[in-house]
Amino acid sequence: MSASTGNGNGKAVPAAYPPPVDSPKEFVKRGLDAEDELIEVGVAIVGGGTAGLACANRLLQLLADDPALMERLGEVPVAVLEKAKTCGGHNLSGAVMRPGPLQELFPDLSREEWRKEGFAFGEVEKEAVYLTPTSKVKIRIPTPPPFKNHGNEVISVSALARYQQRMAEEAGAYILTETSATQVIVEDGRVVGVRSGDKGRGKDGEPLGNFEPGTDIKAKATVFAEGCWGHLTGAAIREFDLADGREPQVWELGVKEVWKVPRPLDRLIHTVGPWPVKISARYGQVGGTWIYPMKDERTGDDLVSIGFVVGLEYADATTSPHDLLQLFKLHPLVRKILEGGERVAWGAKALPGGGYWSMPKLSMPGAVIVGDAGGMVDTAALKGVHHCIASGKLAAEAIYRGLKNGESSFESYEYAIEDSETGKELYQVRNTRQPFQKGFLKGGPLVNLAIASRGKLPPGRLKWHRNDEMPMFVGNTKDRYPRPDGRYTFDKLSSVFITGNATRDDAPNHIRVQKHVPREVAETWKWMCPAGVYEIPEDAPETGPVDVIVNYTNCVQCGAITAKGGRLTTPEGGDGPLYQIT
Ligand SMILES: Cc1cc2nc3c(=O)[nH]c(=O)nc-3n(C[C@H](O)[C@H](O)[C@H](O)COP(=O)(O)OP(=O)(O)OC[C@H]3O[C@@H](n4cnc5c(N)ncnc54)[C@H](O)[C@@H]3O)c2cc1C
Ligand code: SF4
Repeated sequence: MSASTGNGNGKAVPAAYPPPVDSPKEFVKRGLDAEDELIEVGVAIVGGGTAGLACANRLLQLLADDPALMERLGEVPVAVLEKAKTCGGHNLSGAVMRPGPLQELFPDLSREEWRKEGFAFGEVEKEAVYLTPTSKVKIRIPTPPPFKNHGNEVISVSALARYQQRMAEEAGAYILTETSATQVIVEDGRVVGVRSGDKGRGKDGEPLGNFEPGTDIKAKATVFAEGCWGHLTGAAIREFDLADGREPQVWELGVKEVWKVPRPLDRLIHTVGPWPVKISARYGQVGGTWIYPMKDERTGDDLVSIGFVVGLEYADATTSPHDLLQLFKLHPLVRKILEGGERVAWGAKALPGGGYWSMPKLSMPGAVIVGDAGGMVDTAALKGVHHCIASGKLAAEAIYRGLKNGESSFESYEYAIEDSETGKELYQVRNTRQPFQKGFLKGGPLVNLAIASRGKLPPGRLKWHRNDEMPMFVGNTKDRYPRPDGRYTFDKLSSVFITGNATRDDAPNHIRVQKHVPREVAETWKWMCPAGVYEIPEDAPETGPVDVIVNYTNCVQCGAITAKGGRLTTPEGGDGPLYQIT
């Protein structure tokens, strides 16, 4: 791995400037506090997103039929720790969902009822996929298999999480919102719970007047459902060598807007480029877009979900998914849909892109990993929601069986995943995305081969290169971005504003990066961050290392920085965005 001296025209590798983090020391606690200082629960679920709440709901369904075990689990049989103000506050997805796993989880709830509950917005009846060779032209192509969505449902994962929270609470779950889990507790080689974070610390970590220390939460089983490469999941993977022999995880970053539109959109749309990304191997940009129709049955509003996803393997430091989305909205295809409408929501989030070969081992003594935290996303199809629900449900079933038999190993969950539709689907697309690392044009035919052969070709295991090992240069993608007009196209800060972001100005910094790095690395962070967190001082030298200013209170916790040389750690519970319909 090489690192340049930081000349803005050279190349620099973010991995050569690792974040100042000592994961085993900071994020793993050895042993529990004394019994009278801790909270004891049956099952602790870290993360109240789609996957974690599916696990909670399924567990409570099983426990409802087994009062003896319910009683053995104590006063709090199932606890969910969620760092957002409310479940759903930090969740974002496209989101067109394969309906099966949600139907299985709540068999008595019809799709009409999903829409009445306000988390579903209609079944996909028509769809179209376009090439966009230029900023003006579109060419419709036959729908490639990964983009076939007929019969799927457009939803909001944020609204779905709020619904799942309600269901879980009604069934007896204890949901601790505004609570970050900051350490995994390991005793005698097994996970025995997690520690919740302190509240009320100042900028330098000093306790303020309203200081509340965190607490050990002891659990018979722990579920890591933190989403895209979570804080504790990462620590647990390292502690138990769960990524041994796997490919490295890679990431994508998506930026989404929801618009209220004057005319209903009659079909679901995907575009696969090449415009507006630069597809040559030198730039390494791979990206795609979605536009999904949403009918809000409760208000009668016509909405659309629109978004841009970019693989974080790119090399041009000036790649900005936020600004690429603004640029994409200028294409006539999009203008026709959004013009006359109003942006009602915005958000950004990273997703794990490595697929099957990058999935860690999913269980360890005392704990399991579900959903995005376990890398269960098919990025070629942009589908993860149904895998999250399925994995949460299978984890609940394995934990239930284990607890009933007095065991602390939940390894049967891993086999259940392997044998499930989730395991099979992810295996089938195991080599579908890696060829794009060679560039869109060179890799495209191999991707098509992988899709056409349903995973049989190319044979073997295709490798992934770590995102943070890509040498970055300061290119000219930035020259394409439109000047925001505040009505149709927006800057990053006005986007963050509408997320309801409520991070305290005097909260401790939860973003770990080196603050004196080559210009190429600093520019990478500045452009990539959808929330405008990183700044380079105006008087910084054009060449050589530069200082980085970190405006961490803008952070929407998308997680992308972890892919490109920094680290998102858990902020104080309750901080960050409050997404409603993303
Ligand atoms: C831009 C984008 C578009 C997508 N489009 C689609 C699509 O159209 N269809 C589809 O099927 N899939 C799509 N996906 C994938 C899908 O959204 C995800 O697979 C799924 O939502 C992940 O759910 P999850 O519960 O695993 O994680 P998350 O939704 O990330 O939930 C994790 C939760 O854990 C909480 N948390 C994390 N760490 C802690 C901690 N230490 N303490 C307390 N709480 C914590 C977080 O606040 C969050 O609420 C998309 C993803 C993205 C990012
Ligand atoms: S600072 Fe926050 S919003 Fe910006 S890239 Fe990092 S995690 Fe995402």
